[in-house]
Amino acid sequence: SKKVLIIGAGGVGNVVVKKCAMNPSVFSEVLLASRTKSKCDAIAKECESIGLPTKVQTAQVDADNVAELAKLIESFKPFMVINVALPYQDLPIMDACLQTGVHYLDTANYEPKDEAKFEYSWQWAYKERFEKAGLMALLGCGFDPGVTGVYTAYANKHYFDEMHYLDIIDCNAGDHGKAFATNFNPEINIREITQDGKYWENGEWVVIPPMSIHKAIDYPNIGPKESYLLYHEELESLTKNFPTLKRARFWMTFGQQYITHLNVLQNVGMTSIQPIRFQGIDIVPLEFLKAVLPEPGTLGENYSGETSIGCQIKGIKDGVEKTYYVWNNCKHQDCWREVQAQGVSYTTGVPAMIGAMMMITGEWMKPGVWNVEEFNPDPFMEMLNIHGLPWNEEVDGVLPHEY
Ligand code: NDP
Repeated sequence: SKKVLIIGAGGVGNVVVKKCAMNPSVFSEVLLASRTKSKCDAIAKECESIGLPTKVQTAQVDADNVAELAKLIESFKPFMVINVALPYQDLPIMDACLQTGVHYLDTANYEPKDEAKFEYSWQWAYKERFEKAGLMALLGCGFDPGVTGVYTAYANKHYFDEMHYLDIIDCNAGDHGKAFATNFNPEINIREITQDGKYWENGEWVVIPPMSIHKAIDYPNIGPKESYLLYHEELESLTKNFPTLKRARFWMTFGQQYITHLNVLQNVGMTSIQPIRFQGIDIVPLEFLKAVLPEPGTLGENYSGETSIGCQIKGIKDGVEKTYYVWNNCKHQDCWREVQAQGVSYTTGVPAMIGAMMMITGEWMKPGVWNVEEFNPDPFMEMLNIHGLPWNEEVDGVLPHEY
């Protein structure tokens, strides 16, 4: 078993730490480091009070600072770093891993702070450097991206000769009782939703105005929910790694109340990432908005309802048309009881822990920079069932939304 350094003590970090600390045969020691050390200490204390077997230490780190990161890595000597800070920190953390010779995993692709632009190019550009150093970087190992890529790889391996149509459908039918809150980091979340929508069709990207395509999709155990076509980062790697796909889209549910709030905030300029001068200092409106919104990690206690995320695929096997749907439903309350988290943090943190487990056990280990769908999905799918995110599948059923 191996030591891991986890960076980021937010909603997701809390889950990753606890899920690692539950599995001492894989994770011998955990160091949790983040910008605010008191948040790390609070999580470590909870691990101790619920009696988790793996020892959790804490540290303060500014993950934008490569030298500081390298120093921390050198003092703890982990096998790998699990990065669940923010996408802005991906590149400095990858640099620090290269400098110190440790493996890397994250759950969201790099994006520059001054430009809401989601793409893998920056991180894929590290491929040769990781290869040469004999190190592995696993990108996007949360739920979406993450499990959605593993689901797609599993479908491709077991059910299709050629996949043609992929729809990733993501529903959060939970209720946290707040007028407006985001389920993961509000800054990242709002940047993602307010950009243009985009999907892959016949070899090219089709760009649409934000939230302009939507329809009701029927989710298992939940029922029909209005779902909006968004651009989501796994579409980039999945269409590259599965070139038979003629179309790939991503859908996410939003309630009317959420959309109304978002529209107002956008109309008054509160979602802008352009700094404004306010009483002598520069303020980024979106960063200020984040400061007044509830932290995603605090939504868990009274969160009810469940999430449902899955992949619907249509293609051919042995010359015959086939459909396949694979999904997970996750109840917010179950997550709260197990690790004091809400479902969105849970469904991200568990796959990050499993990805690290795949690397530590050697099931997934090759030097370079990779997306999850480039590995054997079977051992990961097995671990999902064991560690809290069991999946269901339906072969040749009627897909819950029309093609
Ligand atoms: P939170 O905002 O709750 O947590 C982020 C944490 O990172 C905070 O503890 C924050 O510190 C810390 N942090 C930020 N900047 C730095 C820095 N420079 N140095 C050190 N620590 C820093 O976000 P979440 O936990 O909800 O999300 C974490 C990541 O997971 C994000 O990248 C998000 O995009 C990703 N994600 C991926 C999903 C998937 O399915 N793939 C789904 C949901 C999230 P502080 O407490 O001081 O602010």
